[in-house]
Amino acid sequence: MSGLHRRELLAAAALMPLWPTALARANTATHYDVIVIGGGTAGIPCALFAAMGGARVLLVEKSPALGGTLFWSTGQIAGSGTVFQQRLGISDTPQAHFDDCMRINHGTADPALTRLTVDHAGETINWLADHGFEVMEGHPVTGIGHDHFTERRYQQGVNSGLSILDAFLPSLNAMIAAGNISLLTGTAAANLIQHGDGRITGVTVAGPAGMQDISGGHVVIAAGGCAANARLFEELHGVPLYAKTAYPTSQGDGLLLGLSAGGAIVGGEKYACLPGLVPDAFQYPCQMFAYAPLNPAIRMPWEILVNAKGERFVQEDHASVHHIERGVYQQPAHRHWAIFDAAMLEKSDPIIPKWDRERLAQEHKTNAMFHSAMSIEALALKAGLNPVALQRTVSDYNLRLTEGRADLFGRRVRPAPLSKPPYYSIAMQGWTLVSFAGLKVNPQLQVLSDEGKAIPNLYAIGEVIGAGATSGAAYTNGMLVTPAITFGRILGANLARNARSGESALRGI
Ligand SMILES: Cc1cc2nc3c(=O)[nH]c(=O)nc-3n(C[C@H](O)[C@H](O)[C@H](O)COP(=O)(O)OP(=O)(O)OC[C@H]3O[C@@H](n4cnc5c(N)ncnc54)[C@H](O)[C@@H]3O)c2cc1C
Repeated sequence: MSGLHRRELLAAAALMPLWPTALARANTATHYDVIVIGGGTAGIPCALFAAMGGARVLLVEKSPALGGTLFWSTGQIAGSGTVFQQRLGISDTPQAHFDDCMRINHGTADPALTRLTVDHAGETINWLADHGFEVMEGHPVTGIGHDHFTERRYQQGVNSGLSILDAFLPSLNAMIAAGNISLLTGTAAANLIQHGDGRITGVTVAGPAGMQDISGGHVVIAAGGCAANARLFEELHGVPLYAKTAYPTSQGDGLLLGLSAGGAIVGGEKYACLPGLVPDAFQYPCQMFAYAPLNPAIRMPWEILVNAKGERFVQEDHASVHHIERGVYQQPAHRHWAIFDAAMLEKSDPIIPKWDRERLAQEHKTNAMFHSAMSIEALALKAGLNPVALQRTVSDYNLRLTEGRADLFGRRVRPAPLSKPPYYSIAMQGWTLVSFAGLKVNPQLQVLSDEGKAIPNLYAIGEVIGAGATSGAAYTNGMLVTPAITFGRILGANLARNARSGESALRGI
């Protein structure tokens, strides 16, 4: 386990609120208006807003604690017309937010789901603010680790994802105490109960009390993605899960439940990788040992990036980190190596944030992902790269620079030739935190079959609909947590209205 994960796990464990008073079994005689599967980022607001709207709600959570990925997520969210923007005198619109999202992901996200997100994201953030959510100093910003927006509408809570959870909990606990939400923790949804005509009529749960059939008017799958389940991830994306960085409960249960009821899974082809993960070993799934963002908006590069053939493949200082991500994606096994020399070690900002020169130099003595040598050929041999090709690559880079010629990939920032031994390499892996494949839904968040037919009474929200739906084939600022909470909020409220009015069809969201 990487240092990062161990630290975060311990932090999460220490902060994990448990629900000892939660029901061990649901009352099987009760018919719930809404059953929510998964008490995480999307499921909590869905259960909460359904209960606040007057619905009888059952919330089923597999783990002992509510919160899901919020325990690990940085929880960066984006929206226009927020109180945080007002503080800074920023005027912004959902349309500008929409245009920015679609520019960043090159139009690969679902436009209707993007529109649904941006139209309601401001209300989501303002609701969180009303419930104690506070942002980091200087936020909102235009961007952090991904390609930036054109306006400052992106923020992180002072306590990352936990700031969001903290904003939910008092209202949620009040609804549980009032009996408006029945909560089953340590209980998994094991099966959907489906009538012969295709309608979903309830859920079979498996928990301390054994298996129970529970009847419900509407069932919402909010059980998260599958990026902690290497086998399922590879099957749905056609790409191995190179690194395990998702929250461990992201096992894909919700995708399988949706499939079992006739739902379609789409979006695996939108898989996009992040660059710069230094693995604990070249095996997959690996663990993150360290992380170099390789994002010129964070640090201008001194190093060059090469692939396993020892060849450069991308403009390392490209203004769009998405461009660099795409470059990594096109390399065999998404592997890449940073190559640099003693001058960079002495003069550049740390390639791995918070690592000083001594730490970097030390890892090069002891760590199998870090190599150093007095010549480029010797470095290549140690790192397992083609020595002739790497020598040619470095010579070409140096020659173009010293002769004042344009770089092969159009790179502009070339602080110095790689000419001062010792030379260094760091092995890196393309990776993802999330799964891109998910249950196909319409803008009413109903689960759809391959033919596009809604499965009556079945809905899906959160990462179970796939990162590809709202983030596209890219990492679009906040376009997972923001839609997860927003869809939870509006679907919960809408299902409550529906339950109260007894309407059989969903009102338009
Ligand atoms: C480290 C990290 C950082 C991230 N940072 C950001 C960010 O800054 N901004 C952003 O937009 N996105 C970010 N993401 C992604 C984002 O956090 C997730 O996509 C989002 O939180 C998922 O929400 P969810 O409700 O779908 O799943 P979760 O929050 O994981 O909730 C799912 C819940 O369902 C439960 N469950 C699973 N199976 C069952 C079952 N069978 N029965 C009952 N319950 C079940 C799980 O235990 C879990 O509690 C990040 C992800 C990670 C891992």
